[in-house]
Amino acid sequence: MWYTTSTSLISSMQKSNRNRLSEEQLLKAIQKKKECNAKAQKIVESFLERNIARDYFLSQLKDINQCHYEDIVDERHILLICGYPLCDNLLEKVPSKKYQISTTINKVYDITDRKKFCSSQCFKASEFIKSQILVSPLWLRQNEQIPEFKLLEEKNT
Ligand SMILES: [Zn+2]
Repeated sequence: MWYTTSTSLISSMQKSNRNRLSEEQLLKAIQKKKECNAKAQKIVESFLERNIARDYFLSQLKDINQCHYEDIVDERHILLICGYPLCDNLLEKVPSKKYQISTTINKVYDITDRKKFCSSQCFKASEFIKSQILVSPLWLRQNEQIPEFKLLEEKNT
């Protein structure tokens, strides 16, 4: 009798321990997620300037997602700076036309993307960078292989 009580007590203790642990892990995961998002937000903000150093730019890309990168391009465009973070050119005239409607296939095309850049070269360089940025959740990246980011202009070097 004593034996049964004792084992069931131990088993219930183990159970509650396990529950506590998973709750702790959950809290840790939430905390980690928060930290990662805050870090990504800071990186986005730091890319809204001119004179961004190449090495800094490349070193930060592993901590953001493609959608953060899109935010960077959009925000720079709003600030009238070329969307490609390594370009310091100002955008002079932003065309008011945003969409093109194809009547043949009834589709609306967003033609604003190219217009967020000072040149086709910057547009291409930016798309090239974006394609390398990971899309996995930021807080699950510890065990992921981080690619070596390359600039379009340095692709063949
Ligand atoms: Zn540019």
